[in-house]
Amino acid sequence: MANAFWVLVEDDRNGAPKKVMAEVIGEAARHSGGDVEAVWLTDKATDEGVKHLGEWGAKKVWLVESADLAPYRAEVWAPVVAELAQAHSPKAIFAPVTSRQRELMSRLAARLGVGLAGDCMGLAMEGDALVATRPVYAGKLLSKMTWAKTPWLATLRPNVFRPADAQPGKTATVEKPSVKVPAAQLKFVERREEASTGLPELTEAEIVISGGRGMKGPENYVILEEMGGVIGAAVGASRAAVDAGWRPHRFQIGQTGRTISPKLYLGFGVSGAIQHLAGMRTSKVIVAVNKDPEAPIFKIADYGIVADLFEVVPALTQEFKRLLEK
Ligand SMILES: Cc1cc2nc3c(=O)[nH]c(=O)nc-3n(C[C@H](O)[C@H](O)[C@H](O)COP(=O)(O)OP(=O)(O)OC[C@H]3O[C@@H](n4cnc5c(N)ncnc54)[C@H](O)[C@@H]3O)c2cc1C
Repeated sequence: MANAFWVLVEDDRNGAPKKVMAEVIGEAARHSGGDVEAVWLTDKATDEGVKHLGEWGAKKVWLVESADLAPYRAEVWAPVVAELAQAHSPKAIFAPVTSRQRELMSRLAARLGVGLAGDCMGLAMEGDALVATRPVYAGKLLSKMTWAKTPWLATLRPNVFRPADAQPGKTATVEKPSVKVPAAQLKFVERREEASTGLPELTEAEIVISGGRGMKGPENYVILEEMGGVIGAAVGASRAAVDAGWRPHRFQIGQTGRTISPKLYLGFGVSGAIQHLAGMRTSKVIVAVNKDPEAPIFKIADYGIVADLFEVVPALTQEFKRLLEK
């Protein structure tokens, strides 16, 4: 429907929308009076996935299901969403900040000839205009911006916006539009799945533990993973640790890595360089453990421990275990 707020669905590639979609749908509903429609491009939708979208508040799901949509390639997906948007004139299109939505939304903005507010941390209606708050200069400043014309395109930082309360039994109508899925320009060669750590995904986790150069070597991350297992946290790293080959790049937090905004960030042996802070400074509570009392991370930490992490981590893990077993 014209004037609806659209949300682009990020899924787990197995037919389940990610939980960040509850945040994106919730925020879209707040500014549209509940007029939210989900656009789901996938090679395998599931009834369960459609059910979640409906319960989170999507009134309609535009379902484009085709084997040609997998694996994701921006040049295949962007024209499909652009064609749909041109035909149905949504007022806004929101997506979560993920690797593929970031790329897809930029291409979509170019195709539609409209502006994109990336990495939004706040959205508010001021009169008839939507105003986005987003970080600039690696998060040192926040800027406010609005759009010259619709649709208003925005990517939303995970763990910042209040998720929609799921309403069991609420359903979305499903519409399967006939759109042309263009041929891929890139040939898919091989997909290698990273072995799962068994811990939550970095950008979705409510608690993130981060290990920096102070971890001294890749073998020592096991103590962070053990803590992660106890408190249900994801384990990330600084770029120094990634560049040293201790952790894969997908675990890097910061300007050239992942942006996270968990409820709790625990940094061990991380100095707090500006580029690292760019990816985590919006965490609700920041705890830092560092041997150096002058480490810059203490300037933004809510709680700091000046100590050797190799003494603090096992002691904290034991304490967490004790408390959680109670
Ligand atoms: C263009 C650009 C992009 C960048 N992007 C990123 C990015 O995305 N993410 C990122 O993280 N960095 C990024 N960087 C790099 C950034 O500038 C820093 O070099 C990096 O973050 C440092 O990582 P670190 O804190 O682990 O290491 P260091 O700065 O070396 O800090 C290690 C800390 O560990 C402490 N320590 C050592 N041993 C112990 C111990 N036993 N117990 C407790 N504490 C201990 C030390 O006191 C020190 O403070 C970028 C840089 C550039 C130029």
